[in-house]
Amino acid sequence: MKYDIAIVGGGPAGMTAALYAARSGKSVVLFEGEALGGQILPTRKIENYPALPDADGYTFAEGLTKQIKALGAEIVYASVSKIEKTEGGFTLLTNAENYSSAAVILATGLKHRKLGLLGEQELIGRGISFCATCDGMFFRRKEVAVVGGGNTAVQDALVLSEYCSRVYLIHRRAELRAEKSLCDQMFARENIEFIGETVIEEFEGEERLQSLTLRNVSTGAVQYLPVAALFEAIGQLPQNAAFADLVELDEDGYFLTDNECRTSCPGIFAAGDACRKNVRQLTTAVADGTVAALSAVAYLR
Ligand code: NAP
Repeated sequence: MKYDIAIVGGGPAGMTAALYAARSGKSVVLFEGEALGGQILPTRKIENYPALPDADGYTFAEGLTKQIKALGAEIVYASVSKIEKTEGGFTLLTNAENYSSAAVILATGLKHRKLGLLGEQELIGRGISFCATCDGMFFRRKEVAVVGGGNTAVQDALVLSEYCSRVYLIHRRAELRAEKSLCDQMFARENIEFIGETVIEEFEGEERLQSLTLRNVSTGAVQYLPVAALFEAIGQLPQNAAFADLVELDEDGYFLTDNECRTSCPGIFAAGDACRKNVRQLTTAVADGTVAALSAVAYLR
């Protein structure tokens, strides 16, 4: 089946692109390998989306999904492993079927960065988690840690402090990168303890995570911290290598785009956090989705 526009990724950027493309009368297929909503899905309270101060990620994603389905966008739950250029457009290869389209919008988002320590992979789901909102309740009344110093880490610490007896926020520097309003909320919570200038060196625990070995980077002091869980919030990385033969990526693997979300390959557009940019927010993702869709529509014209 040939579509006008194929969208890879069902986060806010991809879904907004689907909304605009479908509203422009184009046939749209959107591919999502996991859950529609992407990174916004586990966000308890979005707070910084204009005019929706109390929106939560699930409701936001659900609303957007309903909106694009009602407009006739087709949703395929599959990962696109490769895109090939053809005579009249592109073929998108998935683990099930292949699809073709005249234009493509890549909105592949980012995946969690990991600490890269020994035993980490084995302990994922056994004490190591990347989603406080999803897994926090499993650690009710337990002591847990969060690693990272950005908005995600501080938000995770706040969420966890509602379930857990104590939350340690471990950050490699003395200053947090997170917004001041979030930091102020965090420092006001009595059961959150900030451990700055500290790195995690080792995980202890066979079947489940039991404790962390920490090292203070300025004094060199080593400390063992018994915790039931570690929530890793140390940023995200793009996963765009599969498309590198068609579109240009920067040295960190982000899509290089112009102001109109065009990539180096005519007919392929990119939107959202997977693109090289300075500000990665829900608002910028939906803005990119809008621009990419309208640029794709103009390209098809
Ligand atoms: P981030 O802002 O990139 O922060 C990552 C944090 O992890 C930084 O503090 C960094 O330390 C630390 N880090 C990176 N690699 C590390 C390593 N190997 N070991 C230990 N620590 C490491 O990531 P994020 O918090 O996931 O946020 C991503 C984007 O989403 C940001 O633009 C953020 O503003 C946005 N976001 C917004 C909201 C909201 O608006 N409510 C919520 C969540 C996220 P350094 O500080 O030393 O570099």
